[in-house]
Amino acid sequence: MARSVHFVSLGCAKNRVDTEVMLGVTGEQGLEVVDDPAAADVIVVNTCGFIGPAKEESIDTVLEMGRYKEDGSCAKLVVTGCLVQRYATDLAAQMPEVDHFLGSSDMLKLGEILRGRGERLMVGNPAEWSMRATDPRRLTQRRHSAYVKIAEGCNRTCSFCAIPAIRGKQRSRPVDDVVREIEWLAAQGVVEANLVSQDTVAYGRDLADRPSLAALVRRIADVPGIRWVRLHYLYPETLSDELLELLAGHPNVLPYVDMPLQHASDELLRRMRRGHGGRRVYATIERLRRALPEMVFRTTFIVGHPGEADGDFAELLDLVRFAEFDHVGVFLYSHEEGTRSGDMTDLVPSRIARARQRQLLSVQRRISRAKLRARIGTEVEVLVDGVDEETELLLEGRWWGQAPEVDGKVHLANGDASAGEFRRALITHAADHELVADLLDANGRRSSPLCDDESDDGGVAAVAAEIEA
Ligand code: SF4
Repeated sequence: MARSVHFVSLGCAKNRVDTEVMLGVTGEQGLEVVDDPAAADVIVVNTCGFIGPAKEESIDTVLEMGRYKEDGSCAKLVVTGCLVQRYATDLAAQMPEVDHFLGSSDMLKLGEILRGRGERLMVGNPAEWSMRATDPRRLTQRRHSAYVKIAEGCNRTCSFCAIPAIRGKQRSRPVDDVVREIEWLAAQGVVEANLVSQDTVAYGRDLADRPSLAALVRRIADVPGIRWVRLHYLYPETLSDELLELLAGHPNVLPYVDMPLQHASDELLRRMRRGHGGRRVYATIERLRRALPEMVFRTTFIVGHPGEADGDFAELLDLVRFAEFDHVGVFLYSHEEGTRSGDMTDLVPSRIARARQRQLLSVQRRISRAKLRARIGTEVEVLVDGVDEETELLLEGRWWGQAPEVDGKVHLANGDASAGEFRRALITHAADHELVADLLDANGRRSSPLCDDESDDGGVAAVAAEIEA
């Protein structure tokens, strides 16, 4: 009988939630979760199958974990998630070392495997499954911040994207079910709820009573204990006035907009089948800036999509310079089978795509640095995440403009605080994506005199020099 399980979670935040559900299933079976794969009877790898590099990482990880089976310490290797959903039969043929494969909607079936049963291939139809508040879940990493999946799947037809084929059409969770999960999370100590799905603005359109995203967000924001509600993956279409009012005025809803724009050129947006042109992108940004003057804007772009000419890329650079986004991710196009873009033949050489990625990131880096430097000397409220990963002499946290894991952090000096606590802090240094700040006490004063002692500053100078380098 298995007694211990080790998990490796790859890919996006949605996959993280799926892993947390499998951790919950493991707990229900009374098994121990261990950090060391060498100490595990069962190893579970939750994979990503979205684009080329993610697929490679997933396969490399499975092969690496397979070594624990070879040396006899691991009795069962289980591979789950999007890569399996997409390539189940091929993987089963090529990876004899894997004992069980579970698809992207089959997390609860891990229980059968842990009880010593279950077939080798258990890949269901994602269209028949959505997460529910009653599913077991065990939070990973921080106990005060959680991702919440408000819907599964996607109804759009973006030409570069394999997600609808992997995860199926959109299935929104009922409002009451999401709120029930948030209430449970708040009872566990969660104060920050990061709402995720593939297409968050489309929330509710597939449900019989068609609840609006704004109605859901209002209910979530009013759950006692929840202080920060953050929305991810808003498709660039008109946001309702009701939602904008919440983003602008509800004390618990952050005016943080995460809107993947993908491109700016009419021709590229047409090829990507985004359903709009560049003018809509500019109009959307301008409307948001008018409605939310304090807005922090995160977006992502794809460079090197088939047919992207120098002129198209120049239009993308123009947009980035115009919009002065706060956070930008730039993905290299990945030629994926089963997608419309995957049938296009006018490919951009990878050396050109990489050069465009570097150039775009470099333009954005200057914008981001200038924006963060303008914050030096100002006070912010930070959510303390815990001991700084770079030096245990400091703490780390985030101000509301920084989403967990993707937007950098604030290194916190001169004071003590607990993970999950909200504190005021004075920003003292800034770099491309990170800040250094002094914690303030309840009276708005620096909590400790360390900041005045250059010779013993608790590691602040070293961290500041590192992030400024
Ligand atoms: S909206 Fe996002 S998940 Fe849906 S098809 Fe487009 S890129 Fe893929």
